Amino acid sequence: MLFRNKCAACDYWTIFELKIDGERADQTCTHCQATAKIEWNSEAEILIRDGERDIQALERHFPVLGQLKERGDHIRF
Ligand SMILES: [Zn+2]
Repeated sequence: MLFRNKCAACDYWTIFELKIDGERADQTCTHCQATAKIEWNSEAEILIRDGERDIQALERHFPVLGQLKERGDHIRF
């Protein structure tokens, strides 16, 4: 599963890849490859879904966010 967020490691807005493995998930920045392990539960799922909604709201002000489509895409604004 791919989702957009700001990476704390490289400080870019980019695409993250989420690999869910039972109750754990690996969240990897597709730009700098920084990986964080997170607990995978309904809370984490809501957090990611809300994050995507925030980005859609931000996209109205910063249309450049719409350019994040493929793995490795990254922007700073
Ligand atoms: Zn990164």
